[in-house]
Amino acid sequence: MPRSFVKEARRRVGPKRARIREIIDRLAAAHPDATIALKSHSPLELLVAVMLSAQTTDVNVNRVTEKLFAKYRKPEDYLAVMPEELERDIFATGFYRQKAKSLRGTMAMLLTDFDGQVPRGLDDLVRLPGVARKTANVVAAELGEPQGIVVDTHVRRLSQRLGLTKQEDPVKIERDLMKIVPHEDWGPFPHLLIWHGRRVCDARRPACERCVINDLCPSSRV
Ligand code: SF4
Repeated sequence: MPRSFVKEARRRVGPKRARIREIIDRLAAAHPDATIALKSHSPLELLVAVMLSAQTTDVNVNRVTEKLFAKYRKPEDYLAVMPEELERDIFATGFYRQKAKSLRGTMAMLLTDFDGQVPRGLDDLVRLPGVARKTANVVAAELGEPQGIVVDTHVRRLSQRLGLTKQEDPVKIERDLMKIVPHEDWGPFPHLLIWHGRRVCDARRPACERCVINDLCPSSRV
């Protein structure tokens, strides 16, 4: 889109701080089921599911964890088997060697440094082997203590289209979003963008004509 049109579109929808509340409320009404798709029943299962979800689909992870969580119930269980056995048990999630190594390293640290419990703080979570900021953010948010905003491919694309950031780098996008999204919405906000991205604002063919926030979006095609 030529720069003059972008400027004009931004002027039409108004400043992002004035739009964000309405964007969140309308997306929440349109996607009341927008929650994490990974299945878990405890903080430990949540952490494992999020770690396994790198480079694969949530459906695939859920298929694997259904059996995995019946067999591995506490951190010690992941260390009690040979590495090859754990690799076989998570094989279908891809990158199984690296993921098994991260899981074992994480379980060992949970036992030595955290009394076998999953820590809640972002600074502690990112110390765990194989746990990057995005994983830590997801876990902290799902445990009810969001300390940042998860930025994945959908959140990045929609934030840019909605004119909430001009950045490309996920860490810088997160910083921009944290300045305008109210703190109480940090947890649900990424889920809303993710589900809206999957259902309406497709990467190649956004369905702007049936988008509930098209009058608040500078990239709308209608
Ligand atoms: S108006 Fe179009 S580009 Fe903007 S959020 Fe909706 S679907 Fe995406």
